[in-house]
Amino acid sequence: MPSRRADVRNVAIIAHVDHGKTTLVDALLKQAHVFRENEHVGTLILDSNPLEREKGITIMAKNAAVEFNGVRINIIDTPGHADFGGEVERVLNMADGCLLLVDAVEGPMPQTKFVLRKALELGLHAIVVVNKIDRPQARLSAVVSETQDLFLDLATEDHQLDFPVVYANARDGYASLETGATSGTMQPLFETILTHVPGPEVDENAPFRMLATTLQYDNFRGRTAVGRIRDGSVTSGSTVVRYDLEGQPTTHRVNQLFGFRGLDRVELQEATAGDIVALTGISDIAIGETIASAEAVPLPPIAIEMPTVKMTFRVNDSPFAGRDGQFVTSRQIRERLMREVETNVALRVEDGETAESFVVSGRGELHLAILVETMRREGYEFAVTRPEVIVRKGAHGTEEPFEKLYIEAPESATGFLIETLSGRKALMTGMHSDHDGDVRLEFEIPTRGLIGFRDTFISGTAGEGIMNTEYLGYRAWAGEIARYRNGALVASDMGSALAFGIANAQERGQLFIEPGVDVYAGMIVGLHARENDLDVNVCKAKQLTNIRSSTSDIAVKLTPPSPPSLERSLSLIGSDEMVEVTPKTLRLRKIELNATIRARATKRAKFAAMGQ
Ligand code: GDP
Repeated sequence: MPSRRADVRNVAIIAHVDHGKTTLVDALLKQAHVFRENEHVGTLILDSNPLEREKGITIMAKNAAVEFNGVRINIIDTPGHADFGGEVERVLNMADGCLLLVDAVEGPMPQTKFVLRKALELGLHAIVVVNKIDRPQARLSAVVSETQDLFLDLATEDHQLDFPVVYANARDGYASLETGATSGTMQPLFETILTHVPGPEVDENAPFRMLATTLQYDNFRGRTAVGRIRDGSVTSGSTVVRYDLEGQPTTHRVNQLFGFRGLDRVELQEATAGDIVALTGISDIAIGETIASAEAVPLPPIAIEMPTVKMTFRVNDSPFAGRDGQFVTSRQIRERLMREVETNVALRVEDGETAESFVVSGRGELHLAILVETMRREGYEFAVTRPEVIVRKGAHGTEEPFEKLYIEAPESATGFLIETLSGRKALMTGMHSDHDGDVRLEFEIPTRGLIGFRDTFISGTAGEGIMNTEYLGYRAWAGEIARYRNGALVASDMGSALAFGIANAQERGQLFIEPGVDVYAGMIVGLHARENDLDVNVCKAKQLTNIRSSTSDIAVKLTPPSPPSLERSLSLIGSDEMVEVTPKTLRLRKIELNATIRARATKRAKFAAMGQ
């Protein structure tokens, strides 16, 4: 018979970047005395990857646990803004309740809506924490009423509209059920969690079952599966069955079993239903697979995003190779990619056409862009080609991946969005106005149509919109999507760009570089105003002549350059181009650096087209 455990609570925490999630978890950890007296408690970074911070997303959710009045509270971190709908859902599935953390000045932010909607759809019991009540501009009642409106839009069950509100100053470590508190402890929040979030519903006598929800990896132990035990119990050293995504069983031994304490893992002998655990011993476990005792039937496998977009990572062979990077060899790049595959769902790495290249497939352009950015920050240097969707042959002939696209944006951007997206073969499937003057749009769109869209989206909504995507599956090829880009302005010489050369070049188009930047022949320095590529010598200096030049002649007017971001670079490059990525710079280049060979190839392509 299922019953509810009284000694555990599993709570997901949902917050917009900067609303104080780290500070709040820090305060909970400190006050639950999970640290020994002499342990140093600095600022605990639950959400520690600076890249995630910058992009406002968490790639791998982490766990923490605190104890209050004999009850263990597992705190499950969630992405504040997720592009990876499936991942959000998996992580939320471990929780019975959620804390929605809201800044007392800013109020609820659109970016957290998507995750909150998922949480409420899964029936989680929510608690609203209004944080930073000490801020002089705090507007508590307005923020609470904005939050109520949000719940009115999103709640799926009546009880969700009766959420408790806790007012907090996470920085000074106190919370209260009333407005106006200026001191105290976190006890009111702990108590609210205990009373409002139900304990996990479990059947302790049923055979052991859990779903691998996230993976962790270290060289020493290999893969560790993290998940919530659904039924029964498991002991360290016991024999378990792993059901893969096709339902095929294999037998394994649990080497080590861990629970969470504070931000650390502690080894356990036994754990039971409702606990969130990490276990080792199943070296090739994948997300979504069931781990169970021999007599149990597998849990329904959870859908895992399929790789839909691929691009080639290559050893950097530009004339500037090795200038900035710490890790530049094919072996180093290969090892790093293989390590990533261990825990990064839906990432695949295959050997490329040469020993110096690898084909990396992921669940979208952003997924791959994040990997590129992460490796770059770790000191890697390499080059990447244009992202392409992975097509296949199927019942409908050539098939390509499609996605559901959810957009929340100011109403005024609606026309622009619909027009841009229809050019990208998107079909609108829903339109809805929210209380706050936002419009919610839903589309079905080929993944191909999303490549490069984020950039357009951000500028078209002045940064006010949010977008999320969810994989739908393969469908018939949607037809050509016009992809118009002007030709490239290509540097013809190696050297340092000079004002004179740049001034000349900027008459032909729009430049990415400024004087002083080092360039090499074959590097793309801007976009031509016309369709064809054009070689330009940006290193050219003004000829010194006998004629005394006037000052106005020397002082050239330069337009400030607009170097593209990584994501824009990826969507900008053509099939004969690539992006050179180093820890310090991004450069666009032609794959073939030699201008003569390039010109010959262009001519050949032209003849071939004429012959058809
Ligand atoms: P996160 O991005 O949600 O993890 O946010 P952080 O925990 O890093 O907090 C963002 C900023 O808000 C930091 O500078 C904190 O010191 C500050 N902060 C957090 N809680 C409070 C609070 O209760 N009051 C005030 N005034 N500032 C806070």
